[in-house]
Amino acid sequence: MAKRKTSDFHEICAWCGRPADPSQMRLLVPSADQQEFICTDCVETLHGLIADEMPQQHAAADNEFRKTMKNKVPKPKEIKAHLDEYVIGQEDAKKYLSVAVYNHYKRLMQPQEANDVDIEKSNIIIVGPTGTGKTLLAKTIARQLDVPFTIVDATVLTQAGYVGEDIESLLTRLLQAADYNVDKAQRGIVFIDEIDKIARKGDNPSITRDVSGEGVQQGLLKLLEGSIVNVPPQGGRKHPEQKMIPVDTKNILFICGGAFEGIERKIAQRMNSHVVGFTTDPTRERMKDKQDYLRYVAPQDLRSYGLIPEIIGRLPILTHLNPLDKEALLKVLTEPKNAITRQYEKLFAMDGVKLTFAPEVLEFIVDKAIEYKLGARGLRSIVEAIMVDAMFDIPSQKIKKFEVTLDYAKQKFEAAHFEAASVGS
Ligand code: ADP
Repeated sequence: MAKRKTSDFHEICAWCGRPADPSQMRLLVPSADQQEFICTDCVETLHGLIADEMPQQHAAADNEFRKTMKNKVPKPKEIKAHLDEYVIGQEDAKKYLSVAVYNHYKRLMQPQEANDVDIEKSNIIIVGPTGTGKTLLAKTIARQLDVPFTIVDATVLTQAGYVGEDIESLLTRLLQAADYNVDKAQRGIVFIDEIDKIARKGDNPSITRDVSGEGVQQGLLKLLEGSIVNVPPQGGRKHPEQKMIPVDTKNILFICGGAFEGIERKIAQRMNSHVVGFTTDPTRERMKDKQDYLRYVAPQDLRSYGLIPEIIGRLPILTHLNPLDKEALLKVLTEPKNAITRQYEKLFAMDGVKLTFAPEVLEFIVDKAIEYKLGARGLRSIVEAIMVDAMFDIPSQKIKKFEVTLDYAKQKFEAAHFEAASVGS
């Protein structure tokens, strides 16, 4: 572009050569160095040109994706095998997730022209107590996939106009995960954690109307259904002056997770009302433990819990996670590929020290996690409390191996005043 000095020329648009004309709403926008100008008419024309190009660009990007992914899409069994390496138990959830992710790829792979049968998206909802592996499952799947992935917390979301983040900011994270490549983001997966926290409080919508919860659900519905959403590139709240990025959510897979504390009662109420009088009923016999009810969770229980029917309808795959018992916690401690004990063994090995844990120590750690009601989440902090002194001293000592015995573990655990620390936290 030829430079036009304001002193030499009348200020004109470098594209069409016309001056500003406020009566025609034509204004001149200067460049950063104030040396050149473009008029608002030309900005609009350029915008139109780009918009015309966009669908073709999206189609080209989709074709490219199909080409590169051909023969590379992991089969459900391969997805599950990968999950098995990192996540203990939770067989049902693993199977459902593997199938849903595989189908997600299939939808992405179907050619645009063959739209005779439209494969609908199968968003997922996972119900399970906190610390049983919801986030771990989602993260592990993400590592295996070639699509952008993000985890967001539903509790930060609020209805537009309230304090908090606008619902569209969910997609900001996805855009960031895709390096702002809109085509990639439109094929991504979003894990929405703590979906139960936006449930409407109370069963009766007309009496106990909880505006924020229901409002957020309504907003979320728009994303789950598949629509073009204007996303603020920097997240947070929308500002009128901020340039938005349109994102089509049609092909984005949403996985929702929540503890749904107390949902067992709703399941029990529903089930008991169906099996009145049959105390020898095998299902009821089996459910001595209230946690057992979770595996019978059904869409109507989510509704009683306060999710609106439209949201439930958009989350057609419902699965659950089991609470982790002592046996499962022991496995969590030692078996996954990046199990906590393995991580410590590796840390010590880097100093040339072979670290071992006596089997009683592992039981001790698990018992403490159960005693303090910390579940799997607490295992790491208990191990840390036991190991901190050894990690401090051993790198300066000339030893080749170190065994953590039960006496050592007990002594260090007591000295760490874990009880006071965990109560205070
Ligand atoms: P939540 O269900 O609350 O999302 P997380 O997935 O964040 O729980 O689990 C917390 C931690 O506990 C994980 O980082 C992991 O170390 C451990 N954990 C929980 N469940 C399992 C599991 N089923 N298998 C292996 N590790 C687990």
